[in-house]
Amino acid sequence: MTSQTSYDVIVIGAGPGGYVAAIRAAQLGMKVACVEKRDALGGTCLNVGCIPSKAMLFASERYEGAQHHMKDLGVEVSGVKLNLKAMMAHKDKVVTDNTKGIEFLFKKNKIDWLKGEGKVAGAGKVSVAGAQYDAKHVIIATGSDVISLPNITIDEKKVVSSTGALTLDKVPASMVVIGAGVIGLELGSVWSRLGAKVTVVEYLDRILPGMDLEVAKEAQKILKKQGLEFKLGAKVTSAKPDSKGVSLTLEPAAGGAAESMSADIVLVAVGRKAYTEGLGLKEAGVALDERGRIITDGHFKTNVAGIYAIGDVIAGPMLAHKAEDEGVVLAEMLAGQSGHIDYNLIPGVVYTAPEIACVGKTEEQLKADGIAYNVGKFPFMANGRARAMNATDGFVKILACAKSDKVLGCHIVGAEAGTLIAEVVIAMEFGASAEDIARTCHAHPTLEEVTKEAALAVAKRPIHI
Ligand code: NAD
Repeated sequence: MTSQTSYDVIVIGAGPGGYVAAIRAAQLGMKVACVEKRDALGGTCLNVGCIPSKAMLFASERYEGAQHHMKDLGVEVSGVKLNLKAMMAHKDKVVTDNTKGIEFLFKKNKIDWLKGEGKVAGAGKVSVAGAQYDAKHVIIATGSDVISLPNITIDEKKVVSSTGALTLDKVPASMVVIGAGVIGLELGSVWSRLGAKVTVVEYLDRILPGMDLEVAKEAQKILKKQGLEFKLGAKVTSAKPDSKGVSLTLEPAAGGAAESMSADIVLVAVGRKAYTEGLGLKEAGVALDERGRIITDGHFKTNVAGIYAIGDVIAGPMLAHKAEDEGVVLAEMLAGQSGHIDYNLIPGVVYTAPEIACVGKTEEQLKADGIAYNVGKFPFMANGRARAMNATDGFVKILACAKSDKVLGCHIVGAEAGTLIAEVVIAMEFGASAEDIARTCHAHPTLEEVTKEAALAVAKRPIHI
């Protein structure tokens, strides 16, 4: 070990959790370093996750729209052609611009980027590329990594993870997506719009486990109309590349005879696991739970004094915005301030077309918890702006406490759902009732009026239906 440098905070991992924690700690006057082994800052989200997938989702939606939907608006386009190379170049530029943006923010906030693989070398010590650094506080924000299935090897050529699915050099004629979760539906949509015949195979008897069932069913209907095929209740037990493509074996979840399938490309989207490899956690005595996640208390403290963890590497939804909020709260607590995150109010968004968004409790959870609730639902079909946009699929559903009218959850499938949900998240943060939303003036004509009408529908008094 060579040089010795001391910091107030060393963050390991420069994804949304880590880089935000580093910036907030620096804003609060701490001397901060962030360790990152990738050549670019921003973690999975900026490099191979949220941001490149949104670039591909946006571009593929425009391509599909130009081919099939613009004519319905009286815009006739001919000779629409896919230039996949240019689409990928757009995506790559978006990634570079964003990751360079984080580099700029590090410089602006005087955060040292320690390049290389960080290892916890005991409380208050981190080693990176042969050098050792001291820190009062060490924050582990190493995120998560893709998981595969037994008998399936991801080669990122024919059997790809989300990473490989963002760099295919041609549109496959057929693609099987294993897993009808968020990644499966988003990237399945991209390649389906670009021309692949996409079949989504899901072990459960529904898509989007954990989301409100009614919304998931509606989303499945809409995605089916767009050309995605679903095979539910089927477990993929093997996927082997061969001379033609990939051969898969599927077993019915309920038991029975196995069936085979083939595809040019298989996308494995069956979840992610906490990434703790090579961090030296065992040697440092940091405790993990049964799923390999770092165990923390309500203040992100591990069992080893001075070592903290945030984001995908600890329990909770694996979402960039959850990690960011944890990074901010932890930095503020390290600066002697207080902080709190209401984990019930972390929105979830699936960036399909239309988008799917949720916050708070689902109907299934309220039933399981024995909480009496009222439902207000309103369809996009009955909203003038949605009609003007030819975006009439879906609905907003608000769940409110039967006794107090307090909003307990909101579930949306429909245009701009990811944007619309923000209003309800804020309302819920302030403990709003459905009537509070219903009596708030919403501009006309906007999609937000669907939310207002859903809130009115809780009291069975929507205007436009
Ligand atoms: P997921 O957990 O959302 O879905 C995985 C799906 O695979 C489940 O429905 C599961 O039942 C199914 N499955 C598991 N084994 C199977 C088998 N053998 N055969 C068939 N189906 C099987 O996981 P994901 O989509 O890989 O996403 C990983 C994580 O990344 C999630 O935590 C997600 O929230 C996050 N993510 C979020 C966004 C977003 O917020 N828009 C986008 C991408 C990823």
